[in-house]
Amino acid sequence: MIRPVIIFYDPILRSVAAPSDGQTAELCADLIDTMLHHNGLGLAAPQIGISKRVFVARDPNKPAAIYTFVNPKLYPQRRKKEVEVVEGCLSIPGVFVRVPRYTEIMIVERTVRIKASGMFAAVLQHEMDHLDSKLIIDYGPPIR
Ligand SMILES: [Zn+2]
Repeated sequence: MIRPVIIFYDPILRSVAAPSDGQTAELCADLIDTMLHHNGLGLAAPQIGISKRVFVARDPNKPAAIYTFVNPKLYPQRRKKEVEVVEGCLSIPGVFVRVPRYTEIMIVERTVRIKASGMFAAVLQHEMDHLDSKLIIDYGPPIR
């Protein structure tokens, strides 16, 4: 089901999301429907009003594949360089910000490890930020 996207300043976007229990099938389905409806690359549960550590994302280079993450942990590959990525956010319409992102990350969900680089790595870092109440506008001024 397509859900309304929560728009900044809603306080749920500034709340650290709680660990999720096992009941995530409907939530993930709604996140996917809503992300695809808006042609987004990722969407986190707080963005549809549910403060749980769940998000969905897709690789810009392989957009047909959709990944769901429940209680993920993100490990930047800190020896790799950072780049500035121009990012928007469905919760902050029309605003774009240059955000420093690691070019390579690893994300761990239970026993699954996924390595990501480039734009997909940036998408995953953006969605992880949502779970920790961080938004693109925290990184710098909007680009005009
Ligand atoms: Zn966002």
